[in-house]
Amino acid sequence: MSQDFAAEVAAHVRAGSGRPVNASTPMEVWQGLSRSVIDRVADDWNRTTATYKAGRMEHYLSAEFLMGRALLNNLSNLGIEDDARAALAAHGLNLTDVLEQEPDAALGNGGLGRLAACFLDSCATLDLPVDGYGILYRYGLFRQVFSDGFQIEEPDSWMEDEYPFIIRREEARRVVHYADLDVFAVPYDMPVTGYGTSNVNTLRLWKAEPIHEFDYDAFNSQRFTDAIVDRERTMDISRVLYPNDTTYEGKVLRVRQQYFFCSATLQELIDNYVEHHGANLNGFADFNAIQLNDTHPVLAIPELMRLLMDEHGLGWDAAWAVVTRTFAYTNHTVLAEALETWEMSIFEQLFPRIAEIVREIDRRFREDMASRGVDPETANYMAPVADERVRMAWIACYASYSINGVAALHTEIIKADTLKPWHELWPGKFNNKTNGVTPRRWLKQCNPRLADLLDDVTGSDEWVRDLTVLAQHTDSVPENVYERLTEIKRANKVDFATWVARREGVEVDPEAIFDVQIKRLHEYKRQLLNALYILDLYFRLKEDPDLETPKRVFIFGAKAAPGYVRAKAVIKLINAIADLVNNDEEVNSRVKVVFVHNYNVSPAEHIIPAADVSEQISMAGKEASGTSNMKFMMNGALTLGTLDGANVEILDAVGEDNAYIFGATKDELPSLRENYDPTWYYQNVPGLARVLDALVDGTLDDNGSGWFADLRRSLLDGGNQADTYYVLGDFESYRTTKDGMAADYEDEKGWARKAWVNITRSGRFSSDRTIQDYADNVWRVSATPIRVE
Ligand code: PLP
Repeated sequence: MSQDFAAEVAAHVRAGSGRPVNASTPMEVWQGLSRSVIDRVADDWNRTTATYKAGRMEHYLSAEFLMGRALLNNLSNLGIEDDARAALAAHGLNLTDVLEQEPDAALGNGGLGRLAACFLDSCATLDLPVDGYGILYRYGLFRQVFSDGFQIEEPDSWMEDEYPFIIRREEARRVVHYADLDVFAVPYDMPVTGYGTSNVNTLRLWKAEPIHEFDYDAFNSQRFTDAIVDRERTMDISRVLYPNDTTYEGKVLRVRQQYFFCSATLQELIDNYVEHHGANLNGFADFNAIQLNDTHPVLAIPELMRLLMDEHGLGWDAAWAVVTRTFAYTNHTVLAEALETWEMSIFEQLFPRIAEIVREIDRRFREDMASRGVDPETANYMAPVADERVRMAWIACYASYSINGVAALHTEIIKADTLKPWHELWPGKFNNKTNGVTPRRWLKQCNPRLADLLDDVTGSDEWVRDLTVLAQHTDSVPENVYERLTEIKRANKVDFATWVARREGVEVDPEAIFDVQIKRLHEYKRQLLNALYILDLYFRLKEDPDLETPKRVFIFGAKAAPGYVRAKAVIKLINAIADLVNNDEEVNSRVKVVFVHNYNVSPAEHIIPAADVSEQISMAGKEASGTSNMKFMMNGALTLGTLDGANVEILDAVGEDNAYIFGATKDELPSLRENYDPTWYYQNVPGLARVLDALVDGTLDDNGSGWFADLRRSLLDGGNQADTYYVLGDFESYRTTKDGMAADYEDEKGWARKAWVNITRSGRFSSDRTIQDYADNVWRVSATPIRVE
């Protein structure tokens, strides 16, 4: 088999490059090897698609899929990684180098998009009839570079070179209609393989293309720019992923994007229904469930109404009965101000018929509420349209049969607060689905040394498909497991040190504690708190060179939304602290700070296996779930965190001795804030004044931007309104806990034991658990293996 595979790979490389393998570029080899994978899965993929389409399916609609790299994931899932290594070795090539050629498919901002990617992996592994639908962005999330420590954004042209993992399906294109423009939606399919199964699921991404290539008459009259205006307007629809996950700019284009992929997807689902189940659309929901990943795909609700009524002849009530049995909605934020609303005028301008349907949903909603005895003020608060704005989350809550939060605490908060009136009206719609992450990518593939240990301890690779089996080994472990675990972590840290030296030009000592915070830059996530701690530690070491503390490496990775100035200021601050610390001969053998630029899925795969400490330090009540917390735990890093999001459940899984929890709780914060005086902390918490003054006394250089002074003001000025995220209030508790954690690290075996508990208790954070729960209790779909062994 490996001989055959080597020949196949060589043939695919030659066909693409027109040269023998040893004369082809590493990129051409990557492309050839990737094409061999597609060749391998083609028949099973086709069979899976045909099988699923005839039965009940779940469709996961998401504006974001943060897929990362595809090749290793597929080789590993298909069990041909060793064959691929051998095939390349025969030509003197190294698989790892070839894998590094692949660009990340960064079609997402962060947690929400990566969650969608982990979910697809679990659906395929569990043989579930689920497909994903989204947008083929030509440019993914911006590429981040640093200039003088400032973030600069550059376009991420991830698919300009040939990218074999997406395949154009010209024949399945649709027309999406706007009042001012008609466009083609052309589907591009990505195969989604699972681990240890023949099923191959599909992610379908739509690309916008012009119906007329260009205006020939205008071109002939030398009006070259006029000739391509409509073409460019069309291409704009799928040109960029919006790099902002809180507020939105370019609103009309954003709404156009959302409608684009919803309309194309629903046209396809309806045609598929008609083909397999006949023209009576009343039964649509018997065969289709649609999960809305946040509110970005909520336009699918009025669009399904339109298609059912205008194109398939259903009356309003019949169409509404279908719609309300089809959609389920996932909420991802506790912040009411982050729930999307759009001006009605945008709807009127782009699609008057959808605007009309939304107004009718609103009118009937108000009638419905009156008949239920809901008071007019509450009904107005919950109404789909108010003050000429469309409230996407309220449409979702009204039309969906299921509403879920993404961690136990988050679901409680949306019930009691963010979505309170909806919960009062329909408590039965609400359910929790704590997020999860795939142990294939986030353990087996990124941490092969630990994977081997788990194979040895458990006696098989069953854990890759059922991570809960690890829990049997929490207590009954052979004695040398802790030593092996320590060796594995150290080897991963050596690898990381090599990688980061090449990538960032910083030398780090693998003996040090690797303390990591990687996630989007947001004030609520409090990278600033971490930065202030590092600055304080620096001053403590300057003051007392004999201070007892283990060596530390602080690692960051984070992108800030381009318009989010304060987040950019924190990036600049961390880079300035890195400059100060790393260049100070008295300190830099004991502390290093590294900001890994352009944080993305593949850097995460290098960083997480090497981490000792997982920083999950959001202000309590603000982080919906978090998923990096789960990835770290699975790889044996200990959580330093607040009682927020899924940290609460991690603590429950590992116990107090195996996690480091600090800070004010969600329930304590309201009263603490009432009389909050940040200047009191500035004056009374030892070291805090020194740290905050360093922002403005010339210790740190913000290149004249004034940004560091603004950060300081944001913490201190404005009485109890200052320091919105309680950074100063939690500082002391954070410092004490983090210092204690560092001291514990000195006990090598004790630390390894804690890490082992984290790894073996991470089973409930596998996305397989989340997806099985969705499948059983929300989607009502069951495993449909195309091949029964
Ligand atoms: N960005 C990337 C590339 C990730 O892999 C993840 C999850 O691990 C996230 C963002 C989300 O991170 P967090 O859960 O810490 O917000």
